[in-house]
Amino acid sequence: MTTNKLQFIVDERARLENEGLLVKVRTIESAQDAWIRVDGNRVLNLCSNNYLGFANHPRLKAAAQAAIDEFGVGPAAVRSIAGTTILHTKLEETLARFKRVEATISFQSGFNSNLATIPSLVGKEDLIFSDELNHASIIDGCRLSGAPIIRFEHCNPASLEQKLNENITTNRLLIITDGVFSMDGDIAPLPELVEIAERFNAMIMVDDAHGEGVLGESGRGAVDHFRLHNRVDVEIGTLSKAFGVIGGFVAGKAIVIEHLRQKGRPFLFSSALTPADVAACSAAVDILESSDNLVQKLWSNARYFKKKMREAGFDTGRSETPITPIMLGEAKTAQEFSRRLFEQGVFAMAIGFPTVPMGKARIRVMISATHSEPDLDFGIERFIAIGKDLRVI
Ligand SMILES: *Cc1c(COP(=O)(O)O)cnc(C)c1O
Repeated sequence: MTTNKLQFIVDERARLENEGLLVKVRTIESAQDAWIRVDGNRVLNLCSNNYLGFANHPRLKAAAQAAIDEFGVGPAAVRSIAGTTILHTKLEETLARFKRVEATISFQSGFNSNLATIPSLVGKEDLIFSDELNHASIIDGCRLSGAPIIRFEHCNPASLEQKLNENITTNRLLIITDGVFSMDGDIAPLPELVEIAERFNAMIMVDDAHGEGVLGESGRGAVDHFRLHNRVDVEIGTLSKAFGVIGGFVAGKAIVIEHLRQKGRPFLFSSALTPADVAACSAAVDILESSDNLVQKLWSNARYFKKKMREAGFDTGRSETPITPIMLGEAKTAQEFSRRLFEQGVFAMAIGFPTVPMGKARIRVMISATHSEPDLDFGIERFIAIGKDLRVI
């Protein structure tokens, strides 16, 4: 008798279900905004990465529509064959000016940007030093490179320095960190990390997916925030969070970016971003270059929400950015909390192990410039009522 060759999938699904780890997808039935329709309910959106409201911004939509009218819907090729339009070139030039770097290159996602970049910089003879809480796409990019991965303690320059001292080599060294960490909202200690990188002659790469559009002058990111221009070798950005569209990019010296045009496999072997995507992204950068109003609004909302939540007795962890974890401890409590919030019109997802450590389950609140003060008050009131009911505060 033959065994069912797909039995392992059935078993794995049962395991995930048992441990409460099954991913359940909610379906959004409206445009991204402060309020959205989810599974038939109108709810306050405290979950999305739409920091500045660009996902449904009239100027971005108009730019995308104009690009479709002129260039159609599909790129029809990879970048290196026939997929590079003047819209792609314009976006990359606009981003370079905005980021205050020599050049940028766009990819289909932030995830792909990491997969393209890391194997282009190091190979199996070299060493990678990676913050232990780095994003999954960094980890996958590191694995793809074949280089041994040495993890240093989260946001701990002394730990990085120790690992570098323990692993002296004449081959290439690459230090990688998130700029802003997505689960806690804390910021990497970049000045210290850069200083260490320079002392050890190591390349340093910052994945600023949650810093773009949020930190720095008018949202220029973590490197701009710390004034480290020219001292970080590679910056990874995403166009899918604050920029509100889809895609990713790499920013840095022209020689590095040109190297990625030669070696970045998603550039060479996966089709380009669509004309509508790149045109909308250029419009987002234009808006940020002309005004920092939306970034200011994002930060004043974040400060307001955090202050009220802390006054009410909630633990917001080590957040320094609009990413606001509400620390609840047990995964069951966080799930129950999230379920009740949804019943009362607030969409905020619980996050538990293995995305965050055991016993550190939380609801991760994402603040946006689209929220009004009454919106935030609505959310805060629901949090307080449920928090008291569940004896969390
Ligand atoms: C979200 C995220 C990514 C992935 O970006 P996409 O554009 O959604 O693929 C990469 N790195 C970090 C640190 C992220 O937070």
